[in-house]
Amino acid sequence: MSQSPSPVILWFRRDLRLSDNAALSAAVETGAPLIAIFIREPAPTTVMPLGAAQAWWLHHSLTALANDLKDRGADLVLASGRAEDVLAEVAKETCASTVYFNRCYERDDIDRDIARDLKREGVAVEAFHGQLLQDPQVVRTGAGKPFRVFTPFWKAMQALGEPRDTVEAPKTLPGFAFSPRSERLEDWDLLPHRPNWAASFENIWHPGEAGAHERLSDFIENGLSDYREGRDVPARDVTSRLSPHLAHGEITPAQAWHATSGLAGVDPAQVTHFRRELAWRDFSYNLLVTFPDLATRNWNSSFDGFQWSFDRKHFRAWTKGLTGYPIVDAGMRQLWQEGYMHNRVRMITASFLIKDLMIDWRKGEDWYWDTLVDADPANNAASWQWVAGSGADASPFFRIFNPILQGEKFDPDGDYVRRYVPELAKLNRKYVHRPFEAPEMVLQQAGIVLGQTYPKPIVDHASARDRALATYRSIG
Ligand code: FAD
Repeated sequence: MSQSPSPVILWFRRDLRLSDNAALSAAVETGAPLIAIFIREPAPTTVMPLGAAQAWWLHHSLTALANDLKDRGADLVLASGRAEDVLAEVAKETCASTVYFNRCYERDDIDRDIARDLKREGVAVEAFHGQLLQDPQVVRTGAGKPFRVFTPFWKAMQALGEPRDTVEAPKTLPGFAFSPRSERLEDWDLLPHRPNWAASFENIWHPGEAGAHERLSDFIENGLSDYREGRDVPARDVTSRLSPHLAHGEITPAQAWHATSGLAGVDPAQVTHFRRELAWRDFSYNLLVTFPDLATRNWNSSFDGFQWSFDRKHFRAWTKGLTGYPIVDAGMRQLWQEGYMHNRVRMITASFLIKDLMIDWRKGEDWYWDTLVDADPANNAASWQWVAGSGADASPFFRIFNPILQGEKFDPDGDYVRRYVPELAKLNRKYVHRPFEAPEMVLQQAGIVLGQTYPKPIVDHASARDRALATYRSIG
């Protein structure tokens, strides 16, 4: 072993890809043998433990990554423990000189601590940007401050021009013959069993870098040209569904951005709209970097004294999709069946939990965190705070989504509801978003017995709205 050149360590995190991976490119450029490692860490205080749906994704994504590495000549080492301890130990054992990694932003302070600890052990650290369109330190107001409002943020991003060029995956990798022993992925127990609630995920999702690029190509071919108008209609499948791939770093937003450049026959306005959504992700990360407790504390501290209520039965009905409001129930059932929910319906279901049921946004955020395959520390937290009104660029408190009108506007034929709430499948267009107003005969014809085959509304929206407005006004 003393004969071989000392290796470098590449630490994979939420960047489970080989292409456009700045840390990997830099590590390969050294010409040193490579130890690729993924560490399962105990959750520190600012990072939430892995949700169950993400765990399912991670299992498959790590499998794909290990295969992609193997094809190019390197192994993936799996290890558990505090990252700084594991990395220091591996460096010591293998005489590795440097650790390369991409910054993930949800733990900027922790990254700094890790770098400091490793340097103390005599191991150099090289950290890279590349998970976002622009480095968060670069997009700043004229006064050099972080943005708090999206529109000027987006303008500033556009003024910076195109994101950096992307990089191809290395064709071969210099594996290290004396890599430390890897733990077995199966022993991490990331997949659900008894019951296997993720059984249907396999027909929908293809975790891993190849799956991410297939998704992007499919979107460009079949969704992009109708994105701007279609993205708000949950029954239509025109959005990219790249979110779980982006959340696990199997593809970069810069790759998605550049793939939509110079497309013949696609209206540039559609492309700009898609890129604007990618920029929302950057914006969420900017908020998270500015306020690392985004997932647990109100950005706006005047919400700290807000009088939330918690009715266990209401919360349970919400999680199960049994609130009696069809669009809310369809969304919550889509989430359960697919580990995903359409963006418009995420807003409606979140508003219903917060404003109709007056349940603390953090309870909803936790539920999403556990059930979404795209659970993302910045997007989830920023979006929940946006709906609650407690966030930086938040929805005004008086914007309370009416679940019936939202349903009728964005799912006018009720196709989305019928897909996920089959007990309402035979109800006609007029009542599909308001079964509780349907005459008895109409219900009978559709085979519905309210309170038995489908619930009556658990709250009356009009009075719930008044209650929410009164409570919101009380915090002035
Ligand atoms: P597309 O419309 O194709 O957009 C492309 C990409 O842009 C997305 O993959 C995503 O990375 C980004 N994006 C789109 N909309 C937003 C947005 N509003 N905010 C930030 N980034 C956006 N997104 C997550 O990735 N993870 C989450 O945990 C998450 N939780 C959410 C919770 C709530 C309450 C709400 C209202 C929204 C949440 N979102 C979250 C944002 C959004 O709903 C999803 O990113 C989007 O639905 C993913 O579908 P898509 O990939 O087809 O999106």
